[in-house]
Amino acid sequence: MLNTLKSYAVEHKVPIICDQGLEFLLNTIKENHVKSVLEIGTAIGYSALQMESLGCYVDTFERNKDMINLAKKNFKLYDENHRIRLIESDALTYQSDLKTYDLIFIDAAKAQYQKFFDIYEKYLNPGGVIVCDNLAFHHLDINKVNRNTRQLLKKLEMFITYLKNHDQYDTKFYDLGDGMSISRKKII
Ligand code: SAH
Ligand code: MG
Repeated sequence: MLNTLKSYAVEHKVPIICDQGLEFLLNTIKENHVKSVLEIGTAIGYSALQMESLGCYVDTFERNKDMINLAKKNFKLYDENHRIRLIESDALTYQSDLKTYDLIFIDAAKAQYQKFFDIYEKYLNPGGVIVCDNLAFHHLDINKVNRNTRQLLKKLEMFITYLKNHDQYDTKFYDLGDGMSISRKKII
């Protein structure tokens, strides 16, 4: 049961998607008839398994050795239909080719969102969507955080501005979960 993974994540402070964010992501998958997903940031495999349970094929990037081992174990246990492929690599330096996808889910290092977007948007199928998680970064107050976190918040702000001004994508922002967005390529 995926609830076991959720409890594990809470106990070990693994930042998995929150319930409200997950509901939003799964609804987006259903509404857009998404069959294939590229995920950046596997962690223990919770969101990947949730998407797989809707019948999606999921390719998912993870760079952290401990997380890779946990994800492998969880996929062995729960991905009975072998629809998930774990790509054990840093998504910023990965070189091999990929398929194209109906949905790209960006949920990795917050400071790198723009890079992930720019590198991977070309792997989106026509009519596909790019979903980002944690854009509100736990609703932290920029005046009450340390320097590193402030830098991170500024980077996220810059990314949000980047999405708003992107001439090839229309983006909607949702103040639910930890702040999410859906970007859809404009038809030209
Ligand atoms: N999507 C998961 C949670 C992911 S947490 C869920 O909701 O269940 C973010 C993960 O992204 C961390 O495990 C971290 O190691 C990984 N990560 C961060 N930057 C990365 C990168 N550049 N390439 C691959 N993985 C990355
Ligand atoms: Mg997240």
